[in-house]
Amino acid sequence: MKLLEIATGEAPVLRKVAAPVDKIDLSLQQLIDEMIFTMRDANGVGLAAPQISKQMRLVVIETPPEYDDDEVIPDSRQLHVMINPEITNASRKTTTGIEGCLSLPGFVGEVSRSHAIMVEFLDRRGKKQRLRLKGWDARIVQHEVDHLDGIMYTDKLTSPENYWTDEEYEKMIEEAAAQREAEELE
Ligand code: ZN
Repeated sequence: MKLLEIATGEAPVLRKVAAPVDKIDLSLQQLIDEMIFTMRDANGVGLAAPQISKQMRLVVIETPPEYDDDEVIPDSRQLHVMINPEITNASRKTTTGIEGCLSLPGFVGEVSRSHAIMVEFLDRRGKKQRLRLKGWDARIVQHEVDHLDGIMYTDKLTSPENYWTDEEYEKMIEEAAAQREAEELE
C-alpha cells in the first residue's frame, strides 16, 4: 500500500474549494484505501482529500477509541469514508476543544465548534448515509469538511493567542496540573 504525501503549511491546494466526486470507480476505491493507510500511519483521526493534493470532496475519519476505566473498548473506533459530505444540521450549542491537523504538524489550537451535527454523505459503495454525531466525533467531521472548502482550523481559533506548539501546550497542561495539585494541598 502506498503512503500518500500530506500537503502542509501554505500549500495552495489546502485553500481551494474541492469539487464533488462524480464517479465511484476502482481508482477511487484505491485512493480511499491509501488515504486510510496514510491517516493511520500518521496517527490521525481524519484526512481530507485536499490534504493529499486531490481537489475532491472526500474524507476519511476514524473516531478515537472509547475507554472503560483505562481499557480501550475493542472495536470502539469507527471508520467512516464520506464522499460528498454535507453538514445538514449543526447545533447552536458549541464547545471549545483543542485541535491539531496533519497539515500543520507540531501545532495545536483552540477552536469552537457545534456540539452536535447531522452529516449526509455517500459511503464508499455509493450508498446514501446520514449520521448524527456529537462531541469529538462531530468536531472531527466539522474539521475535515472545512478542508473541502479550503478552511483550516487556524482560521477559526477562539483567539490568535490560543495557538501553540505541541511543546508549549504540553507545558501548559503540566503547569495547570501542578497548579491544581498545589491548590488541593493547601
Ligand atoms: Zn486538518
